[in-house]
Amino acid sequence: MNKYSNFNNYIKEYPTEDGHFGPYGGSILPPELIDAFKEIDEAYQTICHSAKFINELRRIRREFQGRPTPVYHCERLSNKLGTSQIYLKREDLNHTGAHKLNHCMGEGLLATFMGKKKLIAETGAGQHGVALATAAAYFGLQCEIHMGEVDIAKQAPNVTRMKILGAKVIPVSSGLKTLKEAVDSAFEAYMHDYKDSIYCIGSVVGPHPFPLMVRDFQTVVGIEAREQFQEMTGLLPDAICACVGGGSNSIGLFVPFLADPVEIYGIEPLGRGPKIGDHAATMTFGSRGRLHGFDSYLLQDEKGQPLPVYSIASGLDYPGVGPEHANLKDLGRVHYEAVSDEEAMEAFFLLSRYEGIIPAIESAHALAGAIKMAREKRHASILVNLSGRGDKDLEYVVEHYGTGERFLK
Ligand SMILES: *Cc1c(COP(=O)(O)O)cnc(C)c1O
Repeated sequence: MNKYSNFNNYIKEYPTEDGHFGPYGGSILPPELIDAFKEIDEAYQTICHSAKFINELRRIRREFQGRPTPVYHCERLSNKLGTSQIYLKREDLNHTGAHKLNHCMGEGLLATFMGKKKLIAETGAGQHGVALATAAAYFGLQCEIHMGEVDIAKQAPNVTRMKILGAKVIPVSSGLKTLKEAVDSAFEAYMHDYKDSIYCIGSVVGPHPFPLMVRDFQTVVGIEAREQFQEMTGLLPDAICACVGGGSNSIGLFVPFLADPVEIYGIEPLGRGPKIGDHAATMTFGSRGRLHGFDSYLLQDEKGQPLPVYSIASGLDYPGVGPEHANLKDLGRVHYEAVSDEEAMEAFFLLSRYEGIIPAIESAHALAGAIKMAREKRHASILVNLSGRGDKDLEYVVEHYGTGERFLK
């Protein structure tokens, strides 16, 4: 036995039947929602293991999403940095330009099999809302997206996309008018309408069965990447890495590699620095806590309330993290490191200029982690999950960083 073979039966051991990953996860729900989540859990455990469901999802992934996405060797970037070879799993080429559609299509198909008519969710920056609205249009389902008024004002293009795709965007005006209030509002709407609708979470967070279900839908990333990398090189990568917000693109890459002799890195946003309110590095600075109906690491005050968080990447600014990551950290299998806004933006411009790929700022965090490892000569080959493309970020980037000359000297 070694530290990798301990993970041979990992998928069978985690989560437990009640949704625990070690001490983390579970489902802490108001009594009115217990039946609704139980229905989703039972449907998932049966329908999603039927050949009919699996084959239909495979067809959708191939014909609609454009999967498999390729693995790409960044030769010019690698040569510039030294001797480590950097490879990308190109989730930016997945339809809609990011990995989120992988679980939204799974959730939409499950809703169809369950006879539901409507998908309900919250969104922060709007990326999850757009992916879910896409799935709803594909399946001919209604779609209701709850979004804080502050976010609606900030993310106008995504609001427009959701509306064009036929979703109803519900403005949330309580509290700080951002993601937390949008979650409360979506839960409330779901509570009143769960017979005809299904709640669709945006990452591997929330009460059981969502961390399990979203993980399973995202493991297509790691399963493909492992096979493609071996086909390209005859080997496994020495290290893999991905950015961690809620943790879905990273867990999707990691899980198929857990029993392999591969070092695994989750990269968190250090933002402007380690002061409270300047970052969203939950694994690096957080402690065990409870948020949105599950237990995990949490950035929290003495009373257990979530602390304010910040990241230049709006998809990473969440004070919690998926419970499976918390467990993988405690088990010592995954390393968690944090990179700053500056480091992420350097990676953003390097990839654009040396490879002709403009990444999402979220994904640039993962690449920045790999660039650091390459400069330190830590690993001979590093496979990075490029979770999304950067089109959505261009306006912000140009306003704050111009076209990046200072990073390219
Ligand atoms: C939403 C998003 C993320 C963060 O979500 P995870 O659940 O941590 O994967 C990362 N990258 C992109 C491109 C996103 O849109």
